Amino acid sequence: MPKAQETVLEIDLKALKHNFDYLKSKLNNNTKITAVVKAFAYGSDAAVVAQYLQKLNVDYFAVAYTNEGIALRDAGITTPILILHPQPVNFKLIIEHCLEPNLYNAKVLNAFIKIAEETQQSNYPVHIKFNTGLNRLGFWENDVDDVVSRLNSTNTIKVASVFSHLAASEAKNEKEFTVAQIETFNTIVARFSKKIGYTPTKHICNTSGILNYPEAHFDMVRTGIGLYGFGNSKMEDLHLKPIATLKSILSQIHHIEKGETVGYNRAYTSDAPKKTATIPIGHADGVSRHYGNGKGYVLINGEKASIIGNVCMDMIMVDITSINCEEGDEVQIFGKETTAEDLARTTNTISYELLTAISQRVKRVFRS
Ligand SMILES: *Cc1c(COP(=O)(O)O)cnc(C)c1O
Repeated sequence: MPKAQETVLEIDLKALKHNFDYLKSKLNNNTKITAVVKAFAYGSDAAVVAQYLQKLNVDYFAVAYTNEGIALRDAGITTPILILHPQPVNFKLIIEHCLEPNLYNAKVLNAFIKIAEETQQSNYPVHIKFNTGLNRLGFWENDVDDVVSRLNSTNTIKVASVFSHLAASEAKNEKEFTVAQIETFNTIVARFSKKIGYTPTKHICNTSGILNYPEAHFDMVRTGIGLYGFGNSKMEDLHLKPIATLKSILSQIHHIEKGETVGYNRAYTSDAPKKTATIPIGHADGVSRHYGNGKGYVLINGEKASIIGNVCMDMIMVDITSINCEEGDEVQIFGKETTAEDLARTTNTISYELLTAISQRVKRVFRS
């Protein structure tokens, strides 16, 4: 890759393939894979990532909102797309774009059946979610009979899958809870399938579920963060490759005296003569203000330069007093050396949040 001459997010499609193959190697041949490409494929580029994964014959895509699914259809994605968190206001659009809704409570189930009847659908694929302990979205175990009788009252829709979501699949100390979730899910699906008279696809695992609970892979798994190179553990991170590298350039160097301040509100005061650098990336690009005032850092020629003062909308200033560098040098915010997980940890957050915050104005470049 040529040296960055502006702020760019570099997406390594070979790394994406590596991660896909690694996750796939954990599964039986007949377990399908849903690639979770919500939030611009975790801040990368949903269209390019989905097109690439479609070529690798991924079985399903999942996104959170309807407009994300429409964007994938507009980008030429023909693979089935599960909308994880749809709202009734979008049900017509969902059908128009052949998207498949998660129906998670009686209100949305009835609303979707109404639209399916109005538009004369038959066996339109839908997904039914059960809550097994996350307490976020989904019918409850004791709703099974009502859900099935409502489903059996119409042939406009057909259940493509029944699924649930694990609350703490990455946490070793929550194994008992997770195993209980899996057991509850097994009970629900057994009863559901018996009552409805056919066996929908069954899935509960996210990335950490795939890695930690092989007995729960069932018919399909849903992976997001793993595809992007993180496994929620140091051990698993060794097997995966971060696909995104956030790079920028050193715009200007300043030499300041002891007692001078840097940035808005004069938040940083130098305690000695210092050399500082200004870099064109700020909170509007996704580097939150939490990274300011010495918490976060960037790499310049392989060395750590800590962010001094407040993060501005379009810039950060870093301390380069002991770094050999010049204007125009490349700056790495995160990538393979300092990973997004490493940088996220400096502000007590997680890679998911840092990655998905990278704003749309940051240019994406692709390497394959
Ligand atoms: C986001 C999401 C996933 C993906 O989780 P990862 O930890 O990124 O693999 C899977 N299932 C549901 C329901 C989700 O919301």
